[in-house]
Amino acid sequence: MWASEELAELSSRGLRRFLEPLESPQGPVVRIGGETLVNFASNDYLGLASSLSVRAAAISALEGLGVGTGASRLVVGDTEIHQRLEARLASFERSEAALLFNSGYAANVGTLQSLVGPQDVVFSDSLNHASLIDGCRLSRARVVVYPHCDVAALDAALASTPARRRLVVTDTVFSMDGDHAPLRELVSLCRSHRAALLVDEAHATGVLGSRGAGLCEELGLEDAVDIRMGTLSKALGGLGAYICSSRSVVELVLNRARPLVFSTALPAALCAAAEAAVDLVEFDDSLRARLWRNIRRFSEGLRALGLPAEPRSAIFPVILGEPESALEASRALRSEGLLVKAIRPPTVPVGTSRLRFCLSAAHSEGHVDMALDALRRLGIRR
Ligand SMILES: *Cc1c(COP(=O)(O)O)cnc(C)c1O
Repeated sequence: MWASEELAELSSRGLRRFLEPLESPQGPVVRIGGETLVNFASNDYLGLASSLSVRAAAISALEGLGVGTGASRLVVGDTEIHQRLEARLASFERSEAALLFNSGYAANVGTLQSLVGPQDVVFSDSLNHASLIDGCRLSRARVVVYPHCDVAALDAALASTPARRRLVVTDTVFSMDGDHAPLRELVSLCRSHRAALLVDEAHATGVLGSRGAGLCEELGLEDAVDIRMGTLSKALGGLGAYICSSRSVVELVLNRARPLVFSTALPAALCAAAEAAVDLVEFDDSLRARLWRNIRRFSEGLRALGLPAEPRSAIFPVILGEPESALEASRALRSEGLLVKAIRPPTVPVGTSRLRFCLSAAHSEGHVDMALDALRRLGIRR
């Protein structure tokens, strides 16, 4: 087999990846490799992954209904908890209907593949998440990639690319840069060109909007976007994802999405955990307020160090260029007691390898200052 040659090739380019098991629960401070580190690598933005009330909800469903679901939801894997969670998510997102998936990856792949096919065109932002890219590929639609957040380029592409059906897809908060899609402009372009719009709120759910429903909520665009996808795996601290849309879109996707039809349903315990997490996200502003205090503190600190930073989301990239530079900076931060991951191609474009800091409501001001102090002491910059 050729696997070892390929691995050697990845290693030589600084692109090899390794697993490292956590020796503690997910949290602002974790044990890993025998070390205690302040964790800036997790997407658990509100600290709900280890929340006691979320755990209690999961345990109670686990005790009542067991672990496995036995089959896909369309066979015998559906429960009242799944349906209750979908109704809860639809009310949280103020949409007509919601549909659960086992992961955000599955949601994007399944939804795209259900809605467009070989006679259609998908217009996709160049920095969209891999799950949207894979969804485009598996849909077999023609894919037009437009430059990152370039509304004029998208306008021109829409004007010059006729098709049976046209769908624009974008992250709302970009996963490796933390910036926002120009959502108002995208909505108006889609209206004027009669295209549909699908947005991925993975890093906005729980973080943006006064109730935590995402960038669409923050901008009052819930009804203007055809399909909104959110995750249960990041700020909601669990696993799974959902789309929100009209009843007919949800019914169609339920009938067609291969990750739903051909995959076993999410365990009820995870649905119960998500229900408890949505309640905390929607009704407990204090979590989001703490997260945003940390975001503002960190962004001011980065700017004071001469690093570009805007308080737009919980994600802060420090772009360093080559994979080796990012790995070296990550190792140096680790020796200062900080867990900050090096993000390299193909997750980000070649030449933009970076450190990616993720902030959480569970971080103290002291944790945030530790990261800023370490960056200053180590003189990390491009
Ligand atoms: C993490 C992520 C996903 C995938 O979600 P999972 O639940 O982890 O599978 C999809 N889209 C974006 C933008 C993401 O960051």
